[in-house]
Amino acid sequence: MRNLVVGAGISGLVLAERLANQLNEEVLIIDRRDHIGGNLYDYESEGILVHKYGAHIFHTNSYRVWEYLNSFSRFYPYMHEVKAFINGHFAPIPFNLNSLAILFPKSLYKKLERQLLKLYPYESKVSILELSKVRELKFLSDFIYQNVFYHYTLKQWQCQPEELDASVMSRVPVCIGKDNRYFKDIFQGIPIDGYTKMCEKMIDNPLIKLLLNQDFKNMSDIGYDRVFYSGGIDEYFDYCYGELPYRSLEFDIRKFAKEYFQTNSVVNYPNNYDFTRIIEYKYFLDQKNPQTIVGFEYPRNYQRGMERFYPVPNDKNRKLYERYLKKAKQLKDVYFVGRLGEYQYYDIDQAVLKALDLFEVILKRK
Ligand code: UDP
Repeated sequence: MRNLVVGAGISGLVLAERLANQLNEEVLIIDRRDHIGGNLYDYESEGILVHKYGAHIFHTNSYRVWEYLNSFSRFYPYMHEVKAFINGHFAPIPFNLNSLAILFPKSLYKKLERQLLKLYPYESKVSILELSKVRELKFLSDFIYQNVFYHYTLKQWQCQPEELDASVMSRVPVCIGKDNRYFKDIFQGIPIDGYTKMCEKMIDNPLIKLLLNQDFKNMSDIGYDRVFYSGGIDEYFDYCYGELPYRSLEFDIRKFAKEYFQTNSVVNYPNNYDFTRIIEYKYFLDQKNPQTIVGFEYPRNYQRGMERFYPVPNDKNRKLYERYLKKAKQLKDVYFVGRLGEYQYYDIDQAVLKALDLFEVILKRK
């Protein structure tokens, strides 16, 4: 069997790895970029591993995914913590009881904490949209909505929060506890030698060939038994129903001649500046260096030719995607995978899991 994997992001790499290592099949991976790893790609600069396409922190509750990726790389036990600059203070995000204590005077903070704990169990999570429906907590929910979510979301998505699926903002819940970690998953970390090295290991098999700087458009005439396509599904079909919206990002990556620029790997600026966050890369692997490298993350409107970072989840876009999906289902042995192929706001572990599941389906068909 000859397989073509379009896009060397994590979804494509998982499929290539499984097909070659488990089925001894030939795989050609193509990518129009000059590197593998998709948006996970990282590179070393002055001894610091820089995530070219923004902070990527692996986290999962799936032992299957954790075990699978650990067979290609050990993970440095990094637990992500984020601060947001709000009203002159740096407060933990997800917003939690520690954030309350930092942002409000003691008497008010104690009152708000009591109110919250009367309504929610300690260490529970609630989405800002749910919290906004609780009359007794209106002052607090308005404060969090305005200061944490509203302006950040406008910057990031260039639309009102209600124009997006509720699932987007509930990725970052309000936490009724004092755990400052961004993710609460059982398994968390950063590949100890970086994502790129992990990705290289995944496809280290002579049955897998890699062609970089290669556009699928130039390959489509060549016959393959199966195609796994992780590019934009609208692009595959020449935008016949119109373009699916995406969001893009731009990173202004700078060196500073000091040991640390900020106190955390990621600091969000919901209400100031036109960037959304600043990433200080050395924190991910606790790399010691007298200099530091930081990335200012600017949301950008996606236009053809730019990098796609996010699908834009809402009903209208899903309906358009479903039209493409219907067309996709008429194709034999062409599979659409990943954030772009499935038009889903996947985290790394979700993309890996979906690709592993697809491989199981293929295995059964054999
Ligand atoms: N968000 C926000 N303020 C924050 C962090 C997140 O409004 O300080 C909202 C925003 O809409 C963002 C979404 O929550 O796009 C998801 O955040 P997450 O950190 O998961 O985004 P990602 O890291 O995937 O870009």
